Amino acid sequence: MPEEFFAPIANTQTPPIYNFFNGSTWVEGQKSTPVISPIDQSVVGSLAIATTQEIDETIGKLKAAQPAWEATPLNQRVKLMHLVADWVHHYEEYFTAIMVREIGKSTKEAKSEIVRTAELTDYFADEVQSIRGYSVDSDSFPGYDKGSIAMIERVAHGVVLCIAPFNYPVNLAASKIVPALLMGNTVLFKPPTQGGISGLHLARIFEKAGLPPNIFAVATGGGSEIGDYLVSHKQVDAVAFTGSSDVGVVIAGKAAMKPLIFECGGNNSAIVFPDADMNLTAKEIVKGAFSYAGQRCTAIKYVMATKGVLDTLLPVVLAQMKELVNMGDPRSPETKLVGPVISLEAAQRIQKWIDESVAKGAKIVIGGKHDKAYIEPTILTNVTPDMPVVVNEVFGPVVSFIEIQSMDQAANIVNATRFGLQACVFTRDEGTGMVYAKSLNVGTVQINGSPQRGPDHFPFLGIKHSGVGVQGVRYSLEAMSRLKPVVINKPQ
Ligand code: NAP
Repeated sequence: MPEEFFAPIANTQTPPIYNFFNGSTWVEGQKSTPVISPIDQSVVGSLAIATTQEIDETIGKLKAAQPAWEATPLNQRVKLMHLVADWVHHYEEYFTAIMVREIGKSTKEAKSEIVRTAELTDYFADEVQSIRGYSVDSDSFPGYDKGSIAMIERVAHGVVLCIAPFNYPVNLAASKIVPALLMGNTVLFKPPTQGGISGLHLARIFEKAGLPPNIFAVATGGGSEIGDYLVSHKQVDAVAFTGSSDVGVVIAGKAAMKPLIFECGGNNSAIVFPDADMNLTAKEIVKGAFSYAGQRCTAIKYVMATKGVLDTLLPVVLAQMKELVNMGDPRSPETKLVGPVISLEAAQRIQKWIDESVAKGAKIVIGGKHDKAYIEPTILTNVTPDMPVVVNEVFGPVVSFIEIQSMDQAANIVNATRFGLQACVFTRDEGTGMVYAKSLNVGTVQINGSPQRGPDHFPFLGIKHSGVGVQGVRYSLEAMSRLKPVVINKPQ
């Protein structure tokens, strides 16, 4: 029974108070912080807040246990991760139900996150076996003879702090924890507060899969409360973080000289050429902008095209919205793509940006209002790049249409922002798309498709304030390790 499997992670109170895992035991906190469902503002449960003393003890044990874990044969670490994948599959329905209530994701989208997590974990465990060291001879560099040879190994960083965001609390936790463990690091997992209950269930699976004590631990508590302490901790050797650009910038300042693997905010544009297939473009814009109520780093946030193209495209987008989008309770089968945003505060913030943009001249074509945490699927036209709905990452179901005079102007608008995750270009001429992609200063350009992270073995990265480093199966394994050359001089 799932209840028995997961029993140690919480008390039996209603709503329950969740414990944190210190590497060997589930510990009750002295204080806790509530997790509120965005669906109806009910309390789903509370998370323990780890104290600095508890954090010190936990990290100290992770640090001490790390060398033995790195020395454990890789084939054993691989087996454990395959077991994690199997357990995640096994509890797919249970996870899905928790996630729907905790973060307001639709059942279909929550289930797909869980399945993807299991598949990703298996893929990591397979891929890691092809990561090998290599050797380099000295004599290829001018002035050197065969006097030395560098044997280059990949070694672990040590203790990796893995911080996940609310919108993919299971997948973007596993995408860090699994490669970190496979490469021989020990891991401290900091789940998001909203999404923390889902994260703790994942943590229980790592424990039950048979990880030795003090290889993996969890610290719960609000980011504003324990975050700084964790990222600047002397015994944390690397920080893997997914979250907003604002928090990323703060963490980068505190985690001085530590390797950083950051996935941060995205404010992604769709740029439509006159020859684009308007049906395909409209469909991709609707899915790209409104899936999980627009709360995806890869969501489309603004669409740019010349006047004639926008005039043709907008009615097609509105027609597609009728078919593909239906705002409602994420538990209802009637709901399509748009449920609530993560909190009342988030809804109010988004409403404020819409209102301020309208005051500056933007026009609401559809939507534009909110009720509690539900923001109506919104399309704005007459938008200019200086308006709050474009300057900020609007993490909600809002898409802005910007009229441009030339395709060069669109590239300049993208390149002038602080974000650089993805952009997408729609044209029937892929050659035009390839050439135009060169002018866009972003991590990835998609041609004739909305921005997305997957498939997960593709490189995934953000530049500027959208991230540091590269993710994607092989790239994440590499990022969770470093090169260590041992040079043999005057080989015999
Ligand atoms: P967030 O508010 O930045 O929080 C992300 C994580 O950081 C949470 O676990 C949070 O904990 C923690 N945190 C907050 N302040 C911290 C601090 N000072 N030190 C250490 N940790 C701290 O982001 P979010 O609202 O959860 O997630 C949405 C954001 O993530 C969006 O900007 C989205 O674009 C971005 N995102 C990016 C990608 C990508 O791949 N590029 C993927 C998904 C999401 P608490 O929850 O306890 O505050």
